[in-house]
Amino acid sequence: MAQSPSGAVDAPEPLDALGGSAPMDAPDSRDFAGAIRWTAADTEPVLCCLCRVPGDPVMSVAPFGVVRCPICDLGFVSPRLSAAALQRMYDNPAYFEDTVYGDPAGRSPAMVLQRTWTAGRLSGLVSRRPPPGTLLEIGTGYGYFLAAARDAGYQVSGVELSRTGAAHARDRHGLEIFRGQLDSAPSDEPADVICFWDTLEHVPDPLEFLRQVRVRLAEDGVFALSVPSFASPPARLLGARWWTLKPEQHIWLFTPTTLRVLAARAGLVLTSVVTSPLRRANAGRTDSLVAFGRALPMVDR
Ligand SMILES: [Zn+2]
Repeated sequence: MAQSPSGAVDAPEPLDALGGSAPMDAPDSRDFAGAIRWTAADTEPVLCCLCRVPGDPVMSVAPFGVVRCPICDLGFVSPRLSAAALQRMYDNPAYFEDTVYGDPAGRSPAMVLQRTWTAGRLSGLVSRRPPPGTLLEIGTGYGYFLAAARDAGYQVSGVELSRTGAAHARDRHGLEIFRGQLDSAPSDEPADVICFWDTLEHVPDPLEFLRQVRVRLAEDGVFALSVPSFASPPARLLGARWWTLKPEQHIWLFTPTTLRVLAARAGLVLTSVVTSPLRRANAGRTDSLVAFGRALPMVDR
């Protein structure tokens, strides 16, 4: 999924993302892509996926709240869209129209960035686990990265929730994508490489998601991911005006530290975290991180 430079957050007031209490009397509904207007009835409260406790309020972007776990510091959205409301959003054709994706050969700045990220991320994977080998991408979107990984020599497979994205990947790139949730996707052999770009912040339970990644990853395999960074200058300085906040979709807010803790609980270790917008894998992104990692050995606990 893509960054939207224009941003979808239509926040009432600037608030400090790092502290301070937020006014709770903001408007009780928000537009998404001009198509769906959410109200409190579409939302539900959730607990920290690691500690199973409620978060402390950081700011309100009604009808949603941004909170932080008092134990592990993980940021998350609560209340957030209910599972039924979330499915309605992903089924809405406007969801993909909000992304930067267009003609893959295009010269638009967005597509130049897209190709730069693909090249940088692929080169990071190839240097750690060269092809041939199997590569699973979770959240393939339109299939640009997976097609590049195939062309680099990996035997690729992909999982994608969106019908629009999966159809594009098949028609444009000849990729057969499993359409659905990761836990229902086939898993015959562990994958040598697993990647999920701009996906983890969307999933209902990122600990459960990473545990499934661990199970599906070869013992000597490599995984890689990107997420918005809640520790980035834009997130810290802009508060509710941070263009990547998007509380409808981005329901977990990671920092390098909280991501490391979460990965470790799932049996994974981050070996490299890239935050610089000058690195190809994260080119031009001042508010995102790209991480590479490996499986920790399975031990009795
Ligand atoms: Zn926690």
